[in-house]
Amino acid sequence: MFDFDVMRRKGSGSKASAVPHSSSLLTPHSSLLTPHSSLLTPHSSQLLSHFLSAIAPEQPKRIVLCMSYLVLARRWRPQKFSDLVGQNVVVRTLKNALSSGNMAHAYLLCGIRGVGKTTIARLMAMAVNCQVPVDGEPCGVCSACAGIASGSNLDVQEMDAASHTGVDDVREILDGVRYPPTTLKTKVYIIDEAHMLSKSAFNALLKTLEEPPERVLFILATTESDKLPITVRSRCQRFDLRRLAQQEISDYLAHVFGAESIAADSDAIAAIARAADGSVRDALSLAERVLAFSNEHLTLVDVQAALGMVGSELVCSLSHALFSGDAGRAIEVLRAATGRGFVPRTLLLELSRLWHQLACLQVDETLLGSEVEADHRAWLQLNAAALSSQALDLRYQVLISGIRDLFVVDERMGAEMLLMRLCGLNAISAVEPSTLEGPAIATVTRAAPSAPMPPAAAPITSAPIVDSPKPAPVPEPEIQAAVEAEPVISPQHQEPDLPLHDQAEPVSKTFSGWQETIEAFGAVKPGVSAMLDHVICVEFSGKVRLALSKHQERMISVADRRAFAEWLGREVFWESQKDHEGESLSQERDRQARAEKERLRQGAERDPHVGALMQEMDAQLVKVLPAGVESED
Ligand SMILES: [Zn+2]
Repeated sequence: MFDFDVMRRKGSGSKASAVPHSSSLLTPHSSLLTPHSSLLTPHSSQLLSHFLSAIAPEQPKRIVLCMSYLVLARRWRPQKFSDLVGQNVVVRTLKNALSSGNMAHAYLLCGIRGVGKTTIARLMAMAVNCQVPVDGEPCGVCSACAGIASGSNLDVQEMDAASHTGVDDVREILDGVRYPPTTLKTKVYIIDEAHMLSKSAFNALLKTLEEPPERVLFILATTESDKLPITVRSRCQRFDLRRLAQQEISDYLAHVFGAESIAADSDAIAAIARAADGSVRDALSLAERVLAFSNEHLTLVDVQAALGMVGSELVCSLSHALFSGDAGRAIEVLRAATGRGFVPRTLLLELSRLWHQLACLQVDETLLGSEVEADHRAWLQLNAAALSSQALDLRYQVLISGIRDLFVVDERMGAEMLLMRLCGLNAISAVEPSTLEGPAIATVTRAAPSAPMPPAAAPITSAPIVDSPKPAPVPEPEIQAAVEAEPVISPQHQEPDLPLHDQAEPVSKTFSGWQETIEAFGAVKPGVSAMLDHVICVEFSGKVRLALSKHQERMISVADRRAFAEWLGREVFWESQKDHEGESLSQERDRQARAEKERLRQGAERDPHVGALMQEMDAQLVKVLPAGVESED
């Protein structure tokens, strides 16, 4: 009756327990494929059959299930306090309290997502109830531990405040507080995302925290402790779980991969660790994604492709093109990257990250942190020395505001404009530090040891780098090529950094058309500009002739007319509309919009599929909208 196609991803190992997951993907297909039902345990097959007959009785279907093994993050969830990564202080304090029996009645666990708050809460619940605890660690096997671990013991209540914010939800779980635990030594209430509780819910909770019953333990976990009322915070013993350093995550991933027999390059691991941004759980789920993508030896390229990350060599060469003012090359890099599926915004954000690193390095090398890889560090050092900090700062500002603006335009187009603008800055802001003329150049023209940039054609003065761990195997010509190609910017070309343009500068009078003029005037007098949008422009040359309706004649004041003429720097004639024919810009737009609508409609009417559909459903064509446009009504 049913045919299962069960896909199991690589790395599942023998620990995989094939239980259908609730997020299984069900797709009815007409064709049947070979079943891989051998991957299912008898129990899960049975569950699946029940499930399928409930949702699709009578109908043969092919069901594709993407499922069936515990993800890394679940498999590697710590079973003991000592399994926790990077939270040694918290763990030691807790274990001391547990082994000496000096537990508070309420705890508050704070920290970013994925550092182990819920895990610690569950371990605490197990530790206070374990029948044979060892040094504060739960044994993990006694009936109490097993019941809590599987979530089946009713004396341990877990509540997700994100979905249960109301006072009734809190009351419901607090109702049982005054009754003693049924099977365990201590009742435990775990409230996850506690900051999401409503005010009245907090009040209800507060009452209980003020007069805690015997044998009850409250554990609140939150990512935003500031949002908790001070009255609640002051009644809890607080633990701050720390965000993990990239190196700690890398080490942990290496350990996990080793245990799972997954081969991975160290730079691939480092890239995952960096993307995890301090969270162990994120690191494991990201690793999971990469494993689903690549089933061989994990490389940096795999990680970048699977996680949509931009490689440092790409960002470095982009940065490079920008500082050498090569807009063509910069856009080429961007297009190549988008061609490979990168989002322009991601690339630009990575660029801002790179520039931040450069800026850090210019202030103090220790700010860079130890997580930067040697190759990349060499590149940074070389470039930080070659750039003036003002130039970097100016470009950073322009980049950030440009990234912000990407939301209002087509992303790729906006990104290209931004790159051109950044290159344009070279005309007003010198790139290299003004104080170091000769020496700066000398530093720059040295080669970096295998810096992460594609080799270009330029020759090289191969002076060995100081501090280099190894001799330069691949000459790194591009940086130096660009700097050499930079005599455009003379050292004495000292410039005020800001502004980019505009401000006191008089308006350009070289508008070629009426529309452009009105748009520009919109920045000066938006109200008048909006009215001019409805005015017919009869002539636009050395002089400008406008035709106004009666209403417009009243609306556009003499002062506004004078202001416009002065701003434009041309003679403007304000005539009556009854002597002229033609259309205003707004009329022209309306007409084009109507024509477009009509074109879409005719296209739809001629479309055989639409026709068939209308006939089939006895329907009428009401409206045709361009793709991506929501109906206005
Ligand atoms: Zn136990």
